[in-house]
Amino acid sequence: MQTKNPLEFFRTLPPKQCTECGTHIIEQAESYLLECDRCLSKKDEY
Ligand SMILES: [Zn+2]
Repeated sequence: MQTKNPLEFFRTLPPKQCTECGTHIIEQAESYLLECDRCLSKKDEY
């Protein structure tokens, strides 16, 4: 019998925010990123 719900673990984590614009980041495989896709693509252009 499982008493621990894996989803409950994720709900306890604080939401990640982009260090540039403060947008909440949906965590994916690249969870080491501290910025959202928009800010990352902006940096690419420079
Ligand atoms: Zn951003």
